[in-house]
Amino acid sequence: MAVVASIVDGVAVEVKGLVLSLRNQPVEPGAREETSFDWTVPKGWETEVLRLEPGTVVPIDVAVTTIDGGVIVEANGSVTLTGECVRCLDPIEVHQDFHASEVFVYEDSRRERNRPAEGIESEGDEMDSALLIERDTVDLERLLRDAILAEAPLQPVCSEDCLGICVHCGILLRDAGPDHKHEFLDPRFAALEGFFGERDESEPRD
Ligand SMILES: [Zn+2]
Ligand SMILES: [Zn+2]
Repeated sequence: MAVVASIVDGVAVEVKGLVLSLRNQPVEPGAREETSFDWTVPKGWETEVLRLEPGTVVPIDVAVTTIDGGVIVEANGSVTLTGECVRCLDPIEVHQDFHASEVFVYEDSRRERNRPAEGIESEGDEMDSALLIERDTVDLERLLRDAILAEAPLQPVCSEDCLGICVHCGILLRDAGPDHKHEFLDPRFAALEGFFGERDESEPRD
């Protein structure tokens, strides 16, 4: 296509941080441009239990498809999240693929309430939740936070059968062996033991 051919190095999509420039995106609906870029993770990409290590480089594949009044942006890649097993507290890494897809609409077309953009299901909720294209750029941050962090496991474990730690002494149960136990008794049993103990003492009196 002539439009694509006019673009230097065939790169239609320019990226800065997580912001894509759409300046060179072909305007014909259906036009699709793909690119890959390396994203260096900044601080603050974390959940309660897992995080993306700041400074890590994440390769991201992006495809931008023009629709009437906006674009569909798809972003794919994989990340390694680090944290601790919630059972044994060992350091763990969680490898996770992400697939994000979102409609971005131009602010102008969003205001045209009487003319819903083609390719977007309906106005109303869908349009309100669609992300805006600002100054010919789209910011992938929210999209990727949803695709990566919102999908991350809430209770990551080192393995599904992790035994965790002994609640009494804190030892790793996988190291402690199957015989590990503590000899303190339930207060109810202690009371019984006392009862039998007294009986034992009283028996010689019989
Ligand atoms: Zn564990
Ligand atoms: Zn123990």
